[in-house]
Amino acid sequence: MSTSDCPFPKLHPSQLIRDDAFFMSLAYNRAIDAWRVEEVPIGAVVVHDGEVVGSAYNQVITTGDATAHAEMLAITQASRAIGDWRLTDATLYVTKEPCPMCSGAAMMSRLSRVVYAFSDPRMGCLGGATNINDLPEAWHHFEITTGVLEEECRSLVQAFFEMRRAENKENKSPNLIESEYDS
Ligand SMILES: [Zn+2]
Repeated sequence: MSTSDCPFPKLHPSQLIRDDAFFMSLAYNRAIDAWRVEEVPIGAVVVHDGEVVGSAYNQVITTGDATAHAEMLAITQASRAIGDWRLTDATLYVTKEPCPMCSGAAMMSRLSRVVYAFSDPRMGCLGGATNINDLPEAWHHFEITTGVLEEECRSLVQAFFEMRRAENKENKSPNLIESEYDS
C-alpha cells in the first residue's frame, strides 16, 4: 500500500441533522481528499446560514505554498461566496486545531465560531499550545468548540504519519518524516 491509498472510507452523515458532527464529517471527508494526494490529512469547511460556503483540504505540497492550509483556503472561498471579507456569522469546522497562521486568519476574518476536532499541543493557537482568543485588547473574539469527531480526525492524521514513516524507512530517507503541516 502506498501513501495515496487511504484506508479510511469517507463518512456519509444524514443530511437531516445538520449539527456540528455533520459539518465536521464534511471536513473529515476533505481530509481524506488530502490523504489521497499525499498531503497531511487536514480538512476544513466554513458554514454560513446553514450552508457550506467554503470547503478545502491541506495543499501545502501540491501548491508549494506554506499558506495553503485547509482553513486558509476555506476562508478565502467563503469570503468570495459571501462577497464580504467579514465572516461575522460564519463557523469554521476544521479537523485539527488551527496553527498560528490559521488562528490569526480566523480572527482577522471575524468568524463567529471555530469548531475543531482534536487539539495540537505544539502549534495550536485556540487552546492547545496557547489561545489567540485570549488577547485581552483584541477587537474580536469567537466561540470555540472542541472534541467533535475527535478520535476519527486524530486517528486519520496519526495513521498517515505512521504509514509515511514506514515508507521512509523502506526508502532509507528518514529526513522526509517531518512535515510542513505536522501536528
Ligand atoms: Zn494552519
